[in-house]
Amino acid sequence: MKAQLLRRPRSVEQSPLEMTELPAPTPADGELLLRVHVCGLCHTDLHTVEGEISGKLPIVPGHQIVGVVEKVGRSVREVRVGDRVGVPWLHRACGECEFCRSDRENLCERAQFTGFHVNGGYAEYAVAPAAFAVKIPDNFDDAHAAPLLCAGIIGYRALRLSNVRPQQTLGLYGFGASAHIAIQIALRWGCEVHVATRGAEHQRLAKELGAAWVGTAEDVPADTLHSAVMFAPAGALVPEALRALRKGGTLALAGIYMTPIPEMKYELLYHERMVRSVANATRDDARQLMQLAGQIPIRTEVQTFPLAGANDALVALKRSEIHGAGVLIIDH
Ligand SMILES: [Zn+2]
Ligand SMILES: [Zn+2]
Repeated sequence: MKAQLLRRPRSVEQSPLEMTELPAPTPADGELLLRVHVCGLCHTDLHTVEGEISGKLPIVPGHQIVGVVEKVGRSVREVRVGDRVGVPWLHRACGECEFCRSDRENLCERAQFTGFHVNGGYAEYAVAPAAFAVKIPDNFDDAHAAPLLCAGIIGYRALRLSNVRPQQTLGLYGFGASAHIAIQIALRWGCEVHVATRGAEHQRLAKELGAAWVGTAEDVPADTLHSAVMFAPAGALVPEALRALRKGGTLALAGIYMTPIPEMKYELLYHERMVRSVANATRDDARQLMQLAGQIPIRTEVQTFPLAGANDALVALKRSEIHGAGVLIIDH
């Protein structure tokens, strides 16, 4: 099968992904083999490819996989050959550690992540445990469903962890693939959404999707937000977001990676403001998000790229030049 393989992480401008011929994987007991149709691009792929975070090497990145089940291993009951499913970031959890046993499989001690510990979807085929694959709502085509699988799921979990309540004022910092989905859920909950982002294109999309206010982080008036979610991996914005947060408000940091958070005055945190990170997501998050996506229905903006253009697509992602979410189309 054709696959984009990362052997040695380096800057995406140096085209670290190599188009390679690999043997197609075989599904083990409990696993499914997916004929990959599309795979979404995520900032985590960028951090993996550039070496800011490191799992297994060499690796085929990609963890927003949509495809059709081509084969199943023994004892698979959840899916059948021909089903269309998605494979998200959480490839498998052990089911036995203290986190798995307390409904926090996203924090599993032995979690494996798709396209990080196990080959992912920048390829014609991929395998995954059937129990960790999710059904895709019927009213989504493959490309528009791809961003739901990480951007959507993480955005949803970040919203939940921000403790935002219906009708409250919510701040979103950064407006890429995750935020453009999260805003639609927040609006469905009746929230007033303020979006802080620099790019003119991102500001335009935020307005179009229903943001009540759009500007830069420095311009958000103090003491206005009940909750906020930081999607931008920019630690320097954390004090800015805290300044805008009301007493008792929560700031959820949605990224797997962030530049250092600068030293700040305690008064920014005082009055019971909370800062918390969001790490991965559970299968329940995935199922709930898919259900919401089908009901609302969530509109995803995608820009497609061929598998062969994965390096260029990641460069565009790095420069915030992608309109909505980037998706690789896998031609067989
Ligand atoms: Zn576990
Ligand atoms: Zn991701």
